Amino acid sequence: MAGRVEGKVALITGGGSGIGRACAVRFAKEGANVCVADLDVKAAAETARMVEAAGRKAAAVQVDTTDEAANEAMVKHCVESLGAVDVLVAAAGIGAVRVPGATSYQPHTVLSIPMDQFRRVIDVNLYGVLFSNRAVARWMTEHRRGGSIVNLASIMSKMPSTSAPYSVSKAGVWMLTKCLAQELAGQGIRVNAIGPGFIETPMTAAIRADAARSSWAMSVTPMGRYGKPEEIAATALFLASDDASYFTGELLHPSGGVFVG
Ligand code: NAP
Repeated sequence: MAGRVEGKVALITGGGSGIGRACAVRFAKEGANVCVADLDVKAAAETARMVEAAGRKAAAVQVDTTDEAANEAMVKHCVESLGAVDVLVAAAGIGAVRVPGATSYQPHTVLSIPMDQFRRVIDVNLYGVLFSNRAVARWMTEHRRGGSIVNLASIMSKMPSTSAPYSVSKAGVWMLTKCLAQELAGQGIRVNAIGPGFIETPMTAAIRADAARSSWAMSVTPMGRYGKPEEIAATALFLASDDASYFTGELLHPSGGVFVG
């Protein structure tokens, strides 16, 4: 039986770790060739080997998604290596900024956070997504090809948190997704977002290691467990595939029920 993204080329930012890596492996198992992009090129190359082990073609490329020109170069590399870009999963991101030197979790407040740290989170989590989306959408429109863009937002797209820049950045990703969905719908490009809850990846290692914070995270998660990166990859696969052919501008929450009540 054909895979759900058989013959497609998927470009995945943040593909060297966590959710991005799980997406790369799942997409490969479902028939896609995958270009893995990450700040950490060794990690990207390791994911690329996992894609090849699943029997698909892979490419690995170093990118800092906060640099617009680097995103254009990333798309060029993907097209030169694998022939096209049909799907983008924008999973590169960073988490909360903490007070330096604090022995336990101590978030900055909105009033005290140094602006360079606030800007860093917005740069990576919002501008990085914008730049990767623009670079891919420009290639798709120029070549008159439809496609699917899947952005990693968060439950924090809809919730304030003790890491204000993170929540602000993810709210921005949600609205960016909707604006682009509206702009690109006529050209056959669907743009959707995923807003995960608490997922077992390196990004949540500090939360999971801290009993009080972990207990809070589980208290807002009715299913009472962390999600697995593979569960987010399954959501990305759905949105990227033709099964989601009538979805655009949506934000899906694989979160163990955070918004149930
Ligand atoms: P992760 O394991 O930390 O992976 C993120 C990857 O992005 C890392 O490989 C990181 O590289 C890379 N990256 C960071 N900045 C980059 C940049 N400027 N350019 C290119 N790559 C960059 O985190 P994850 O949990 O898989 O998160 C993936 C996405 O899901 C993020 O957008 C995150 O905000 C979102 N998300 C995660 C959760 C969760 O619970 N884990 C929940 C909701 C949303 P380095 O390691 O070298 O920095």
